[in-house]
Amino acid sequence: MIVVDRGRCTGCRLCVRECPVGAMVMEQRLAVVGSACVECGLCVRLCSRDALARNNDEQEPRVQCDSCPISCLIPAGFKGACRRYTNRGGSWFWKPRFWYRLAVGPET
Ligand code: SF4
Ligand code: SF4
Repeated sequence: MIVVDRGRCTGCRLCVRECPVGAMVMEQRLAVVGSACVECGLCVRLCSRDALARNNDEQEPRVQCDSCPISCLIPAGFKGACRRYTNRGGSWFWKPRFWYRLAVGPET
């Protein structure tokens, strides 16, 4: 999971603005990682204060998406960083956008 070093966070909000799934929020002017986090690692790379890090603490079961090298760990009911794949009941599911279904036809 992603953890915040509250002693280093300056509350600049960069991670909140850039998180692709809106998982990062501000509480009392410090960053807090919410339950939608898929551990894409973007915020860890962006934080110039080194206030964010990944650790190996246990967390609820997640599905690891293998559609791209980011390999999001998607919590149940949430989407991956690309916003295309959803964890539904322990497996990831892709629902094509309307325009894609219109152009290509329904999935078989
Ligand atoms: S980018 Fe770093 S310093 Fe800025 S709010 Fe996020 S954790 Fe804090
Ligand atoms: S690791 Fe990715 S999904 Fe999780 S809070 Fe950071 S930017 Fe958002």
